[in-house]
Amino acid sequence: MSTVKTSNLGYPRIGRNREWKKRLEAFWAGKIDEQTFRADMDEIRLGHLLDQQAAGISLIPVGDFTFYDHVLDAAVMFGAIPQRYAYDGGAVSLDLYFSMARGSQTAPACEMTKWFNTNYHYIVPELGSGWTPRLTENKPLEAYRFAKERAGIEGKPVLIGPYTFLKLSKGFPAAELAGQARRLLPVYITVLQQLQAEGVLWVQIDEPAVVTGLPEAELRLLEELYTEIAAAVPELKLLLQTYFEAAEPLEVLLRLPVAGLGLDLVHDGGANLAAIEKLGWPQDKWLGAGLIDGRNIWRADLDAKLALAARLLRQVPQERLLLQPSCSLLHVPVSAAGETGLKPAVKGALAFAEEKLGELRLLAAALEDGADRHAAALEESRAALAAFRALPERRREDVAAQLAGLRQLEGRRSAPFAERAALQRRKWRLPLLPTTTIGSFPQTPEVRQARLKWRTGVWSQTRYDRFIREQIEAAIRFQEEIGLDVLVHGEFERTDMVEFFGEKLDGFLFTRGGWVQSYGSRCVKPPVIYADVAYVEPMTVKESVYAQSLTELPVKGMLTGPVTILNWSFVRDDLGRDEVSRQIALALRHEVRALEEAGIEMIQVDEPAVREGLPLKAEDHKAYLDWAVQAFRIAAHPVHSETQIHTHMCYCEFSDMIASIADMDADVISIETSRSHGELLTAFEEQGYEKGIGLGVYDIHSPRVPGVEEIGRNIEQALRVLDAEQFWINPDCGLKTRGWEETGAALRNMVEAAKQAREKTILQNA
Ligand code: GLN
Ligand code: ZN
Repeated sequence: MSTVKTSNLGYPRIGRNREWKKRLEAFWAGKIDEQTFRADMDEIRLGHLLDQQAAGISLIPVGDFTFYDHVLDAAVMFGAIPQRYAYDGGAVSLDLYFSMARGSQTAPACEMTKWFNTNYHYIVPELGSGWTPRLTENKPLEAYRFAKERAGIEGKPVLIGPYTFLKLSKGFPAAELAGQARRLLPVYITVLQQLQAEGVLWVQIDEPAVVTGLPEAELRLLEELYTEIAAAVPELKLLLQTYFEAAEPLEVLLRLPVAGLGLDLVHDGGANLAAIEKLGWPQDKWLGAGLIDGRNIWRADLDAKLALAARLLRQVPQERLLLQPSCSLLHVPVSAAGETGLKPAVKGALAFAEEKLGELRLLAAALEDGADRHAAALEESRAALAAFRALPERRREDVAAQLAGLRQLEGRRSAPFAERAALQRRKWRLPLLPTTTIGSFPQTPEVRQARLKWRTGVWSQTRYDRFIREQIEAAIRFQEEIGLDVLVHGEFERTDMVEFFGEKLDGFLFTRGGWVQSYGSRCVKPPVIYADVAYVEPMTVKESVYAQSLTELPVKGMLTGPVTILNWSFVRDDLGRDEVSRQIALALRHEVRALEEAGIEMIQVDEPAVREGLPLKAEDHKAYLDWAVQAFRIAAHPVHSETQIHTHMCYCEFSDMIASIADMDADVISIETSRSHGELLTAFEEQGYEKGIGLGVYDIHSPRVPGVEEIGRNIEQALRVLDAEQFWINPDCGLKTRGWEETGAALRNMVEAAKQAREKTILQNA
């Protein structure tokens, strides 16, 4: 039997203790100089290489490490540097590199957006008309040499493929895709030829964009590109890597003249395996078999994986099989070893990057020597999984019974919108164009310190509660003073809008070190949904009721919606996401009821992340939107007709889901628009929307204070499309990242602009 090879697609950059982040931030703050920074970074990346080497991985990726983002690295490498950075050729300095990522005094940063359906954000390359592709530095070559010299590792350079690179870029019309690709191709080929000349064996070319479904013309373009590339570097083994979904049509991809094809066999809904079994596998091609889930933190069922491998081996020669994670391990935390605070059955179920590499190695060994030779290790894994599965909180009858009861209900309101709107108008007596905010007020250092003191036991619960009440009172007085119409309590008691609820619901756990990179040096530690989610006790009632007791004006209750909680957590993988979303919805439904019973009759259920969960393939959109909308309705609609349900969404392209937004049936939605003002308005105009709506009238992501006139213009623009009777006036998003000074100034201007718009509208209608 020949050896079964393992291959990794990418390793987390941040390090076990986020040392990568700390070094970056120290450099940005001027605390270390460039030389120290580079030396420290080299040490970190060397550590990652050695860890993978120690794990026994055959093909170790190089070039996946970065100082910020791998797409930015590619853009810089190809000289795609927008004119505003005044680049004049030559090597790209760190200064310039970080200006593109983070902006500088003179030039704003490049745009950032989500990497496919993950929570990782990449820097969007801008390929303006002035762009002439050129090679500024062969980064994969540098990475290859580094691994070889420093660790004796024969690395596998990773680079983003030309098709995906261009699909993720902006600055040219879609019709010019092929033209841009042909201009970029020679530079690509130079990079690869230099790798070939260096003696590199394998190169991983990431083409995840392929899974989104290619139109015919783009499939032909892909064939053209890879035919030319393959001809130019005949000695390199090219592994065309796809992930996050099924690679279709497989017969076309198999025709590409590359040595191997990497497929995701976890997130493909079984389609990749089915296609392999239907078409057969070309005997001279390698299969990068993505068996281990690179997107989740759970131990794999190795028996199932071995069975899958056995099926693959009926099609693929063993010496052509590479065992891989389903995608780069960038999306999981580094090591579960430090999770000592969890109960053993839970800790035993975790597999972060290090543990996943161990699983790959064990799978390869079991295939190579026969499972018998590794019976003990396999049994250990089996037992750990069994212990986790047997936890009673993962199969709660009370939750199942409540969900079964809900099936008929579907979360419908007691009356249709028009009827509710009439009742609500009478109840609330709001002025025309009512003003409000999205929920949070500045989380000042004082607020954060207070929370820390309470969490570490320096402050008692009573002391902390008093502090929060003082903050709420000050926020209410402030809002009354500046003249807002619908108030909020300010969310001072919350660190994070998902974590706050996760800590109060059953079914969640929190890791010590489960950090993943979100963008640049920013890391997040997602809550983990490991068991059935259930309501325990009121989570927000105390603060909302207190806030309402201070004022005659309405105060909105404030909750995070079920789909957002789901999309920003690591989720158990034994239940469908739709099922988990319904469990969360059911728990939130109790909270909505509790708020209403306590006299809070305007309730906002935020769903900023609803759009991010949208599947990559268009044919799957409807099913997702259907259950997402249903989850929202289950959560938000157990209320009387007079109770006004609000929702909020932000930082996404919403134009193509307005029908689903309407279907959520919130009485009022506030939605971010500063990024796509015109487009979203057109979409509302074309598709029509009858319910209450607040289009953010200023961008809260900058400390800049917008003037009354500027806000007035935004209001006027919206009123050309939307009816004044339905329009609300609010900022784009929550204000927690802002300071009080600019918040006060901006909101005063907003209230003034609203007043002027109100008078004008009344005059016009008189
Ligand atoms: N209510 C939340 C806040 O104001 C909404 C945050 C969000 O949209 N991400 O902070
Ligand atoms: Zn928002």
